[in-house]
Amino acid sequence: MKADHFEQQKLLELAAEDVALTQLAHRRRTLPEAAAVEAVADKERTLADDVVRAETAARDLQREVKRLEADVETVRARAAKDQKLLDSGSVSAKQMTDLQHELQSLTRRQSDLEDQELELMEQLETAEAAVREAHAGREEARAALERAEQLRDDALADIADGTARHEAARAAVAGAITAPLLALYDRIRTQTGATGAAMLKARQCQGCRIELNGRELAAVRNADPHEVVRCENCGRILVRTAESGL
Ligand SMILES: [Zn+2]
Repeated sequence: MKADHFEQQKLLELAAEDVALTQLAHRRRTLPEAAAVEAVADKERTLADDVVRAETAARDLQREVKRLEADVETVRARAAKDQKLLDSGSVSAKQMTDLQHELQSLTRRQSDLEDQELELMEQLETAEAAVREAHAGREEARAALERAEQLRDDALADIADGTARHEAARAAVAGAITAPLLALYDRIRTQTGATGAAMLKARQCQGCRIELNGRELAAVRNADPHEVVRCENCGRILVRTAESGL
């Protein structure tokens, strides 16, 4: 294929835009800010679980305290009833002894229950402090997540800006290249996954960084300036300049 030597130079500008676009796409795929969001989101989920666990523990203790309060109330009511019977003087001596024994045992029972209640109240206080702490931790993680998301979005917007700029620049350069040469370039670019042309600089293909051997170099040297020559190694169009070392 033949193409104007000057037009072939334009392929280097096109390749530069493709390199920039490839780098931007790579940066978008491997964005550290996105990985940071994932890490912070993971932490936030863990802390949200901690809140649920702490709240469940506190609720269980509250229920237990209520149950004990009800038990104490039952014992108190029973003791009051027994006391009333005793005070009425309408019971036999045997009943009186029984009632007195029962009252003693009820008093012990009430005291036991109140001790348990006290212990539970202390546990509840600790549990409620843990709930407050878990809430604070989660709030902190949420704020950190928002900040991380903002940083990621800023980085993505930056990449989108750069991509739009380089796409416009690429379109402008591509518009100055004739269709057959551009089609060849694009076909090679698809094959290499990067660029379709490279400068021949100091006898080296700048696309694959392989130095041309004597035979290849002679072929390029002897080729018409308007002939499209390609790297035998990577297939790219070799663009000849004053620095090619021919
Ligand atoms: Zn090459």
